[in-house]
Amino acid sequence: MPELPEVVTVKNFLKTAVEGRKIEHVQVNYSKMMSALLKNSLTGQYIHTISSKGKYIIFHLDDFDLISHLRMEGKYYIPKSKEINKHDHVIFYFKDFQLRYNDTRKFGTFELKYKKDTYTTKPLSLLADEPFDIDPNTFYQALHKSNRKIKTLLLDQTIISGIGNIYANEILFLSKINPNRLGNQIKKGESSKIIKHSIKVLNEAIMQGGTTLHTFTNNGEVGYFAQSLLVHGKALKPCPICGTKIIKEKINGRMSYYCPVCQKE
Ligand SMILES: [Zn+2]
Repeated sequence: MPELPEVVTVKNFLKTAVEGRKIEHVQVNYSKMMSALLKNSLTGQYIHTISSKGKYIIFHLDDFDLISHLRMEGKYYIPKSKEINKHDHVIFYFKDFQLRYNDTRKFGTFELKYKKDTYTTKPLSLLADEPFDIDPNTFYQALHKSNRKIKTLLLDQTIISGIGNIYANEILFLSKINPNRLGNQIKKGESSKIIKHSIKVLNEAIMQGGTTLHTFTNNGEVGYFAQSLLVHGKALKPCPICGTKIIKEKINGRMSYYCPVCQKE
């Protein structure tokens, strides 16, 4: 599953590749991925800008916004040869090159919106702000009125968007907060710390190209994989601060890693 840093990395790749370009036509090789109506609406549209919110990538066209979600394995790439891969489900044709959407799991989605509806209808209307622009008080109040675990709340895109499982583990470690604590037990200062560390962790990951980048772009480059994670995936390894063994525990179905000493309950 791509997390926000991967999505930003893909967005930046797409901005360089297709911003300002006109879509000549679109070919769909797997009809469930994109309806004929949607496909036809894209013909002749210019891509003015590309933005992202949470894990969604938004192509801003002349008349519409195209909302893309990569889900598990979706990726965009510019092919070097004409040979079509069996997982190339959507091909965007530009005057002198193609952009392909490749997705081995076929879970990716495309939705087309009239511009006025993009942010006021699902799915984007359901998304809370990202850590970069969330109002600290709104975030604190959302935590404060919940008796769900803080780890689960950080993954809830209606509370704060763009934080996935890997970074939630890292953020809680840096904030010295046990993932099993409940939202209504989180103090105001702690909720501020969560925002501060979310921004830090996401920015570092964006600079490094995202932890799982190798799966999500296909630009012939793999290089960014080795991002330094502090606790995620480090079960039984020593905590980088106190040396205690890191605990691995499933919380609401998602694997959590934490230091029982630094992140006391
Ligand atoms: Zn520790």
